[in-house]
Amino acid sequence: MANYLDNPASLKIDLMLRGIRMEDPVVKAWACGSSGVDVLLPQDTLVNIPCMEAFTGGSPYTVKRRGEKYFVTDGKGEVEIKLVPKPAFYSRKTSTGVPYSDIATVHGSYTVITPSPRCDFFDRSVECRYCAGNFDIKGKNDRVYTVEEVVETVEAVLKERSSDIIYLSIGFSQGDDGGIEFLKPYIQAIKKSFSCLVAVEALPPKDNHWIDETYALGADSVLYNLEIFDKELFELICPGRASLVGRKRYLEALGYAAKVFPNGTVASHLIVGLEPPGSTCIGIDFFTDMGVVPILPIYRPSSGRALRIEPLTTEIILPVYKHLYRAVKKSGINLSWVRDISMVTTPAEIRGLVDEGRGDSLMESFYKSRLGLKAAWGLSTIRRKLRVVSSSDSDPSKH
Ligand code: SF4
Repeated sequence: MANYLDNPASLKIDLMLRGIRMEDPVVKAWACGSSGVDVLLPQDTLVNIPCMEAFTGGSPYTVKRRGEKYFVTDGKGEVEIKLVPKPAFYSRKTSTGVPYSDIATVHGSYTVITPSPRCDFFDRSVECRYCAGNFDIKGKNDRVYTVEEVVETVEAVLKERSSDIIYLSIGFSQGDDGGIEFLKPYIQAIKKSFSCLVAVEALPPKDNHWIDETYALGADSVLYNLEIFDKELFELICPGRASLVGRKRYLEALGYAAKVFPNGTVASHLIVGLEPPGSTCIGIDFFTDMGVVPILPIYRPSSGRALRIEPLTTEIILPVYKHLYRAVKKSGINLSWVRDISMVTTPAEIRGLVDEGRGDSLMESFYKSRLGLKAAWGLSTIRRKLRVVSSSDSDPSKH
């Protein structure tokens, strides 16, 4: 097994990919209830490590305690870490009795708030096949947090200085506006009450005037998350996004937003592990050419939704992150928005791994070649996995 303990950037990727086994009772209790644990690696590298999903059982990593100190070990070596305490406001409630932790989740420099847990894709059975987000996937819980509840929550976040970017997200809703009409009073109230930055994650609206409107409302950043760049895989894995929005509209809307919003504030996720690395690299180039920041989360398989392309190792995906670093540097995109995020590896973190004097490594050139795109990961693998997912999804015992 390769040793990643000596480099925080590659260790972060390896930990996000393989997770951690929770053995120590104190660490277990501390992680309890969260899907991942926030840990500070050397060089202030913040990572959220999966610890609850079944795949983490096979991880070589665990956390060891010696006195007051904590270490991540792979059984052979170890590196000292700091456990990031959960924000104190998580244990408090709004004046209406809703736990703040139901409304907001802190991920390092930003806090995600999803005012409505509903996504209309679920009513139509065209949900994104990997979706296990903080949305109510069965559509039973329609509780929409009020503007006042969200403002109270933002106040609690900012008072504690948990993070300085509020990230408002919304699932799919019918209508031409991509969800902006719904988010409008939230954005306005937050911008009126506080001096924090607001990022909005929505679906691309049908018409560009909604993008102008999003900017006019005071949103500082916008994300239209395509998630998968490969056209065929996008249609297979995100049938709702593909049929009701369309890949073409995603790309158009991102391009338009990049002209309206300041440099470095328009972004789109490409999930690593749901398409061949070469196709993620092509997506990175496409986005950075438009002035859009690619954000690369690593796919976390959950039971019944194990779509990950195999094999997927840190050795295989490190070149993708190196490619991201070079592409954003070449395009002159401002990266001040994308920093200190626990859920993804940021280009700044990867800088130490890139030999600035050299061009593409052999591995990266291979990924970008036609052969590299097709050779290691056939589409048949993902089709087969999708079949498994749909048959287990239709099993009522799984709901
Ligand atoms: S848009 Fe896709 S990923 Fe987002 S909540 Fe709906 S189904 Fe899930």
